[in-house]
Amino acid sequence: MTKYAVAPMELPAVAVADSDEVFPVRRIYCVGRNYAEHAREMGSDPDRDPPFFFMKPNNTIIADGADFPYPSMSENVHYEMELVVAIGTGGKNIPQAKANDHIFGYACGLDMTRRDLQIGMREKGRPWEIGKAFDDSAPCADIQPASKIGHPATGDIWLKVNGEIKQTADIADLIWNVPETIEYLSGLFELQPGDLIYTGTPAGVGPIVAGDVMEGHIDGVGDITIKVT
Ligand code: MN
Repeated sequence: MTKYAVAPMELPAVAVADSDEVFPVRRIYCVGRNYAEHAREMGSDPDRDPPFFFMKPNNTIIADGADFPYPSMSENVHYEMELVVAIGTGGKNIPQAKANDHIFGYACGLDMTRRDLQIGMREKGRPWEIGKAFDDSAPCADIQPASKIGHPATGDIWLKVNGEIKQTADIADLIWNVPETIEYLSGLFELQPGDLIYTGTPAGVGPIVAGDVMEGHIDGVGDITIKVT
């Protein structure tokens, strides 16, 4: 039996909808600027440059209904509503045509961002971790298995803050769709069961403050509700 020198971390997990099972989270990959209107609002050209990726630690996950504590050292924390893909079967160099076979399911997620710190690091050419990979930065609702909902390629995605609509788009507007994203990502990293992919956010990102309630929805996938504390 392994003798750990300090207490080992508990494996982070996300509930599987309508099930007593949980999905163990290994890595959290995130796609940057994957809707044209959002790329423009972030000051970039929405051309079809290859997708780019960053990661969050697996223990940044928080569940649907959880409180999101406003993080330290930021004056400008933004929501980013995203379709999350849960990988069920690993692989590298997965072709688009086979990508769906590797997907366990889908969920509604929020890529919470310290925008001031992210932009500050971006402008200096420094890594994004302090802006993107902080504690509790990856709210993720229950995973809907593809065996039940199929592979949604179209459908509304929206986010409300305190009942007011802030982001609205269609997941068909993804610059790099899910199979294309899996093809790229699996050429860079060997995907494994338990990996999550946050596929990018539509336009309309903006700040939240303590007390705000964020409600997100994706047709055919579900909802997420997170309160800022
Ligand atoms: Mn994002």
